[in-house]
Amino acid sequence: AAEQGKGATVCFEKDLGELYQRRNTLASQLKRAIEVAELRVYYQPKVDAVSGQIIGAEALVRWPHPVYGFVPPDEFISIAEENELIHPLGTWVMEQAVMQTTKWQMTVNEKMRIAVNLSPQQFRDSALVERIKNLLELTGINPATIELELTESMLMTSGASTIDALTRLKALGLKLAIDDFGTGYSSLAYLSRFPVDTLKIDRSFVMHLQDSAEDQSICRAVIQLAKSLGLETVAEGVELEAQLQWLAANGCDLIQGYYYSPPLPAQEFLELIHRNADL
Ligand code: C2E
Ligand code: CA
Ligand code: CA
Ligand code: CA
Repeated sequence: AAEQGKGATVCFEKDLGELYQRRNTLASQLKRAIEVAELRVYYQPKVDAVSGQIIGAEALVRWPHPVYGFVPPDEFISIAEENELIHPLGTWVMEQAVMQTTKWQMTVNEKMRIAVNLSPQQFRDSALVERIKNLLELTGINPATIELELTESMLMTSGASTIDALTRLKALGLKLAIDDFGTGYSSLAYLSRFPVDTLKIDRSFVMHLQDSAEDQSICRAVIQLAKSLGLETVAEGVELEAQLQWLAANGCDLIQGYYYSPPLPAQEFLELIHRNADL
């Protein structure tokens, strides 16, 4: 057992070393990847739970790395947050997503909505609101078709400047969604303090929905809470027909997940919209 333990330690250290090296390599290459537009924005449809119509998409950033293949965004977003690169990265994703959606609105469906994830660090940038305002003017997009996805923990820990920025973004007409709802600290106080429009039910509550009475209770409670506050609900990570059926029957507004489609490159998303319209 002692030998085994030692072997495990050596192996663990080797893995840690590799991880550390990978992180350093990625950190040193991310800036350039942003500058030369090596990153991609993928689009995952948000679908009306009842009608099955695609009403919009969530923009999710991708990094097809020449050596490592697709690097998970959780990994390089956290690197970007440590290195201040989250500002150019976040700006780039927002611009790509809004310009793409403006095109789709002009050619396919003027009501097409787009959701963009914002990292808490981005609110340390005093020019954030101004930059978004300029993008709205440049594209002429209807601001109400843009939704910002913020995590619960971010709202819980945010200071006065974040609240100020969110208030200004709302005043521009944008929508706000709380992402991963139910996984953060257990306070609902922010629901009355922030001008929220949408609750996104976290995948962890959806995953076992088809056979967990507890998760059904949680989802039912979140949907009821949202309804009584006049908020929209989106269920994320819907993979099974049974989950979709339950959510539609229990009043969840929108679904998102592999059951319908994984995140797709813009062109493939467009093809999906055309197939969806033919239904
Ligand atoms: P998130 O915002 O909670 O995004 C949902 C994640 O769930 C995405 O992972 C999506 O691909 C994945 N997903 C969607 N449907 C399913 C499903 O049915 N089953 C399963 N197992 N997963 C599903 P992804 O793209 O790897 O992104 C991970 C996280 O990285 C995101 O979580 C978000 O926090 C962050 N992220 C991605 N793009 C951006 C971005 O542009 N800016 C910022 N700040 N964060 C981003
Ligand atoms: Ca999200
Ligand atoms: Ca989420
Ligand atoms: Ca989640």
